[in-house]
Amino acid sequence: MAINTLFHSVLTQRAAIQLMSVTCILLFLVTVFSIKLQTPESLPNSQLTVLTDTEQQYKINTLPDANSQQWKAVDDFELGLPMSDTPHWVSFTIPNLRSNEHWLLELNNGLIDHISVWFIEEGELLDHYQTGDTLPFLSRSMPYETFLFSIPKFDQNLRVVMRLSSDGTLQVPINLWAESAFLVFNGEHSILIGLFFGILFAMGISNLFFFVISRQPVFLLYAGYVFSFALLLAAMQGIGYKYIWSDSPWMQKNSVSIWANATVFYAIVFTNILLDIKSVSPRLHKILNALAILFALSLIAGLFIPKSWFLEPFLFALCGISLFIYAVGIWCWYKQVHLARFYTLAWTSLLVSSLIACLDHLNVLTLSISSNYLLMLGVIIETFLLALMLALSVNHQRRQLYRAQREALRKERDMRAVQDEVLEQQNNAQEELEYSVQERTLELEIALRELSEINRELEEKNTLDALTGIRNRRYFDKKYLAEVRRSRRERTELVVAMIDIDHFKRVNDEHGHLVGDECIKFVAERLKKALKRPSDDVCRYGGEEFSVILPSTDIKGAQDLLEQLRLDIQDTPVYSAGVVVNLTVSIGLASAIMDPQQSEDVLIGFADQLLYQAKNNGRNCIVAQQLPTSE
Ligand code: GH3
Ligand code: MG
Ligand code: MG
Repeated sequence: MAINTLFHSVLTQRAAIQLMSVTCILLFLVTVFSIKLQTPESLPNSQLTVLTDTEQQYKINTLPDANSQQWKAVDDFELGLPMSDTPHWVSFTIPNLRSNEHWLLELNNGLIDHISVWFIEEGELLDHYQTGDTLPFLSRSMPYETFLFSIPKFDQNLRVVMRLSSDGTLQVPINLWAESAFLVFNGEHSILIGLFFGILFAMGISNLFFFVISRQPVFLLYAGYVFSFALLLAAMQGIGYKYIWSDSPWMQKNSVSIWANATVFYAIVFTNILLDIKSVSPRLHKILNALAILFALSLIAGLFIPKSWFLEPFLFALCGISLFIYAVGIWCWYKQVHLARFYTLAWTSLLVSSLIACLDHLNVLTLSISSNYLLMLGVIIETFLLALMLALSVNHQRRQLYRAQREALRKERDMRAVQDEVLEQQNNAQEELEYSVQERTLELEIALRELSEINRELEEKNTLDALTGIRNRRYFDKKYLAEVRRSRRERTELVVAMIDIDHFKRVNDEHGHLVGDECIKFVAERLKKALKRPSDDVCRYGGEEFSVILPSTDIKGAQDLLEQLRLDIQDTPVYSAGVVVNLTVSIGLASAIMDPQQSEDVLIGFADQLLYQAKNNGRNCIVAQQLPTSE
């Protein structure tokens, strides 16, 4: 990720990846062909012979003679023994060596179970060692990751006899070292080994940190893969036993199968997640999951099954799964899965280095460095490329997430705009509705007001007399009733007067009805003018009769007032249609403080009687009298 960030600032991502890949491949090639490590001494004049002790019948002193046919000659000192726990006897002779040096014999395989070595000169045993990785590491005479033996001083030829037996495969290169050369070699070798494991360790740890921070399982799987692979190589080279599980021969016995299974397990799950196989092919995803479970089970089974049974099928499975994963990479590349190209490239580097190592073993190709280093280099390049891919994948995911977030944000914004629009339309509609309701209400109110006005006017008109414009009989009846009750309630004196024009028939007969009407209007006019108080009222009772109602008025005052009126009419002639008419009126005036026991119409009735009396008294006069009390 750090690499990616660094490149990203100056280069495009694609260019950065290509640069990284080319650099890795160049590094690979340059290293393979340039490293010149110190090499062991060769034994050109010596012949290595091997005796397979199938019956386990021989001891050092019962071995067949060196020239016997049972000893089989081997081409070089790269001993390859079949996978079985059958003991093998190995014999060779070391010719005269430079005597000023201390010499070492190396069995360059840290995984041999049982080793016995005898150094013999002319039948005399000079030295004997018994060791193997079934014994604790610290029991070794020289605590080194492979098996090292100090060669005793001898004069002519030293015969070396070894008995080797091991559960699993045996590739046993036998090396002869001058101590000084070995020291140089060991220095160079330690640097390479330290560098190799240091890089793997740093990769593992940094990916663990990435996992802790990002919580993305792919980092954890990658760290698991790198650690398992590193531990597998450490176990194969004897370094694990030397530095990590020195006290545990059990762990040493099982370490290769444990870490190999763990490596494959992590590789499968990591591939499955990194290439997102599920989205390309759910079936392949399931197959990979099943394979991962198979290897997890194989890890457990490996602890209980003898190595000689287990190793061969496991190696086949390992080859199969490697090719399968490689095929998955190529298939994903073909399907244009993101990063599948780089993934395939990473696997290629591992497979190519394994292939070159194999070719080197088969002597098809001669390399300047040991195939172990080549394999290590392949692993480093693969690890680098996978880490780079991981960084790219995370970056890719981050971009996709960012794009998705932006898309979601845009959609949300659009939705909100639509919502706002709908809301605004709703508000507008609401406002329009409210406005038109208000308008209608106002119109209604105005109509109502107009109606009540008309009603009031109508009612008013209903209480008026059409000819004279003063109140009519209907109004008078109500007013009379109200005033009678008030008089009862407040104990006030109420005056009611009935007024009738004298000999009116004659007026009509002599001058016609129109003149008669004018005369009625004239009297009404005079009556209206005569009344001063707001509570006083006059109305046309019918024909040429009028009634007057005077609340809270004493009889004397009322009589004076109406007397004035009578005189006024008598003295004022009416001019109408060219004729002059002199009018007089007769008045019946009754007053009372109304008694609750008395009927309401008694007062008006009494006034009518008094009017009758006035007519009888000769007309043009007032008859005023208080209503007699009921007793
Ligand atoms: P008196 O009251 O003095 O006894 O004699 P009178 O001639 O006035 O008799 P009465 O009261 O019986 O007659 C009323 C007459 O008034 C009858 C009718 O011809 C006349 N009259 C009633 N209403 C009207 C009206 O609205 N217009 C006119 N022109 N004449 C009316
Ligand atoms: Mg009359
Ligand atoms: Mg009259």
